[in-house]
Amino acid sequence: MSAAPRADFPIAIIGAGFGGIGTAIQLKKAGLDSFTIFERAGELGGTWRDNTYPGAACDVPSHAYSLSFEQVPTWSHRFAPSEEIQDYLLGIAKKWGLREHMRFDTEIVDARFDEAAGSWTLTTGNGETFTARVVVSCVGGLVDPAMPDIKGIQSYTGELFHTARWNHDYDLAGRRVAVIGTGASAVQVVPEVAREAARVDVYQRTPAWVVPKHDKTYSERYKSLLARFPILLRASRFMIYWMSELFGPVIFFDNERLAKIGEKASLAHLKAQVKDPELRRKLTPSFQFGCKRMLISDEYWASFERPNVELITDPIEEIKSGGIQTRDGSLRGVDAIVVATGFALGLASAPFPIKGKGGRRLDDVWKDGAVAYKGMNVSGFPNWFILMGPNTGPGHTSVLVYTEAQIAHVVAAIKKLRKEKLRYVDVRQDVQDRYNEGLQGRMKHMVWSTGCNSWYLSADGSNHSLYPGFAAEYAIRARPFRVRDYEIAPF
Ligand code: NAP
Repeated sequence: MSAAPRADFPIAIIGAGFGGIGTAIQLKKAGLDSFTIFERAGELGGTWRDNTYPGAACDVPSHAYSLSFEQVPTWSHRFAPSEEIQDYLLGIAKKWGLREHMRFDTEIVDARFDEAAGSWTLTTGNGETFTARVVVSCVGGLVDPAMPDIKGIQSYTGELFHTARWNHDYDLAGRRVAVIGTGASAVQVVPEVAREAARVDVYQRTPAWVVPKHDKTYSERYKSLLARFPILLRASRFMIYWMSELFGPVIFFDNERLAKIGEKASLAHLKAQVKDPELRRKLTPSFQFGCKRMLISDEYWASFERPNVELITDPIEEIKSGGIQTRDGSLRGVDAIVVATGFALGLASAPFPIKGKGGRRLDDVWKDGAVAYKGMNVSGFPNWFILMGPNTGPGHTSVLVYTEAQIAHVVAAIKKLRKEKLRYVDVRQDVQDRYNEGLQGRMKHMVWSTGCNSWYLSADGSNHSLYPGFAAEYAIRARPFRVRDYEIAPF
């Protein structure tokens, strides 16, 4: 198929992270290069552009945490550091000539659908408008840092920054540092900060289940072997993928016997890393394994054995100008506070005003929680596709498996729209409702609502973030574009 002129069938991709870049590559491969990628930041990369804190790395092995259609044999570690993943994204964007499609520092602030034209009008932050026949929203879910609402935080006069906005100009060497939070970001950053800082106070609200990471460096010999025999790389990816699926039920089903497998592995790891029984008690979670995201680290728990690291479990009462005061009245002075308190879940609402058929606002449709068909389409919002949308996150494997299935779906839909010169495709409301009823029915058997608090859950306790099942099953459901599920509008 020859490449379409850009004006013929304009496609807008919003966001230049893994989702946007992967979509663009697959569109190019399909001979569709009439797309523009809008990126609100000044560089591509998404999560991996933003998360540059010391220790930042993927927590799914890199042979699997990369696009299946852009595999590279050069990963330095089993779990590549953040800057290497960012280099990978820069590299594939260059290889496919994607920069010329990108408009940086361009935030989309409004979108509205024109039913007669079968197109979307996007408005940018500086008032420009852009018309697209299809919009692929790749804005991500865990993007905007969530700052903790702690009394007095504004009055703190030392250095304070969020893990996703690391201040590389501030040298932590020899400083007294507080880390607030003990989630996936914290377990990576604490061991690194502990190596540099004079003292590290780790403020834990809820302990987490941590399992060994078994990270390793790949030798030059191994990497050249993978380069010479790409089948070995594919085999490695295959193994990682199916092992994650095999152990998935331990992490996602609400089954105490399965959970015990994970808990036993984690407790053995804790015992191996921490000698003091009282400290071990404080670090042991009371919720069921998998309820919050399982964390992986070879070093996090061992950090508490260091003389300069202290675990603080007494709740934070207030942040004062020079330090943090806990409920027991202790005030610990610190030079810097690292906020590892996670992200404001982008899926809780539309990322900006989006008006579909009849001017209906996505925020109104989603007032009781974000729902979509296969996480990608929302009835009444034709030709709008969401990547990493509602109920498409995994707790047990690479999110890119889900993303790639969504990209295949989007490309198939675009091909249909173009080939048959259709005005729009709009998922049927009854199909979307049935899909979500099934999903929420299955949710009852999952571990995420068994009494812990996490970003997986909305304020009312419902789960609109994770997919309740295996990745393979989601991919099989999501990849095809099933015409009968959609209202098809011709011109
Ligand atoms: P998170 O998992 O949401 O953890 C936030 C931590 O901050 C929790 O320990 C939370 O305690 C604590 N916290 C929040 N507000 C607080 C407050 N006011 N006072 C005291 N403590 C507070 O955030 P995250 O660690 O940034 O990870 C978010 C997600 O990003 C992960 O689940 C994962 O999907 C992704 N991630 C991935 C990687 C990777 O692949 N390498 C790395 C980092 C993050 P509670 O538990 O009590 O709420």
